[in-house]
Amino acid sequence: MAKAVRTTKSHARLAEQPFRYPLSRPFAEPDWRRLPGYKDVTKEQWENAVWQRQHSVKNLKELKTALGDFLTDEVAADMERDQKEFAMMSILIPPQMINTMDEGDLRGDPVRRYMLPMASDRFKEWESHPLASRDSLHEAEMWAAEGLTHRYPTKVLAELLSTCPQYCGHCTRMDLVGNNVPQVQKMGFSLPPAKRYETMLEYLRKTPVIRDVVVSGGDIANLPIAQLESFVGALLDIPNIRDIRLASKGLMGLPQHFLQDDVIGGIERLAKKARERGVDLAVHTHINNARQVTPLVARAVRRLFDAGVRDVRNQGVLMRGINGTAKDLLELCFTMIDHAKIMPYYFYLCDMIPNAEHWRMALFEAQQLQHDIMGYLPGFATPRLTCDVPFVGKRWVHQCATYDRERGISYWTKNYRTSIEAGDPEALTRRYEYYDPVHTLSETGQKYWRRRAAEGKIPQET
Ligand code: SF4
Repeated sequence: MAKAVRTTKSHARLAEQPFRYPLSRPFAEPDWRRLPGYKDVTKEQWENAVWQRQHSVKNLKELKTALGDFLTDEVAADMERDQKEFAMMSILIPPQMINTMDEGDLRGDPVRRYMLPMASDRFKEWESHPLASRDSLHEAEMWAAEGLTHRYPTKVLAELLSTCPQYCGHCTRMDLVGNNVPQVQKMGFSLPPAKRYETMLEYLRKTPVIRDVVVSGGDIANLPIAQLESFVGALLDIPNIRDIRLASKGLMGLPQHFLQDDVIGGIERLAKKARERGVDLAVHTHINNARQVTPLVARAVRRLFDAGVRDVRNQGVLMRGINGTAKDLLELCFTMIDHAKIMPYYFYLCDMIPNAEHWRMALFEAQQLQHDIMGYLPGFATPRLTCDVPFVGKRWVHQCATYDRERGISYWTKNYRTSIEAGDPEALTRRYEYYDPVHTLSETGQKYWRRRAAEGKIPQET
């Protein structure tokens, strides 16, 4: 029998899209020799982790040496005032990250905006949300052992150290991580590292409901590889542990660290042991802008895969002026998957730490962004935009139960108890609040917060 011939007329033609792919920005390591401080730096030096650490910028004088006349007196004075009056983190930035900035437009540069904040970036009235606080996620309250946060039923966060190769202005752990700054005396740990690690391991050995450990800090790129190997090796000896994620923003900020043979050797031994035990060992990084994904980052990721790491995923932070548009997010995600094989995973709303309002975005803006990025990336590489609700945990931005847009208060529910709610009968029926930045509200909403602040109904935790 003859086959019927399809007569439907095709209407398919390539349509113009709000986001254009392929990417137009070339994927290349920016030439560091364009910057006065690095004009004589060789490739060998640049790719050396020790050189990068020794030349990491810790103050404005060193930044001036790196950038020369590109850092004008006016911009430097603006950064200096920020350090004195607003910053929650001290300056620490490796040359690798400085090299991803647009030296000709430091004011507008997205990497500069979150790594080297300026006082003029901040808002005059609402530089902090009235309910902002240090340790806004209450992680320390949920420490089952010092530095071991048990917030979810089957997962824990192990903070092994309180330093990083770079300090980010918006750090959610500004309470603990980094050096003291005029605004914040850091909390620090009380126990010596070896004792702390053993206490954490003891808790995990006697708590079989935990299967998943995020090994973090700070940043594991600052932990000597022998210590990391010893701790993760001990985790792999605990039968209930099935997933281990090593958290390092340094994979992007200091990829040279992961190109060192001793570091890769340690990770390779851990990956082998993990494979034998049937445990998934992954690396989670933190990249906020496409400019920061360079061929050196891609090379470091490849070394991790070659060493046996199962996956490298990105958990970025959603921030205005850094990645707060669909175009910025899609460019970042495509750069990661096309060039570096980094899986886009989450973008969190920036947490409610003090002096973060110029970075923070409102829930409704994040919901719109989630809508706007759908359909471009493969489904498995489409990141979830999430809100880390205090006392609840991560929630996708469309999961709020109710949302008072006028006052910028979203209400969330949860389906498990955190480690501090064992005796709380209302933990699973209560609604938990999250707050939009006040400057995104209508005048009526802003008046509400002015009134609450004036009536003293807001505990000042900072
Ligand atoms: S790397 Fe992570 S922990 Fe370290 S300062 Fe940045 S955000 Fe904080």
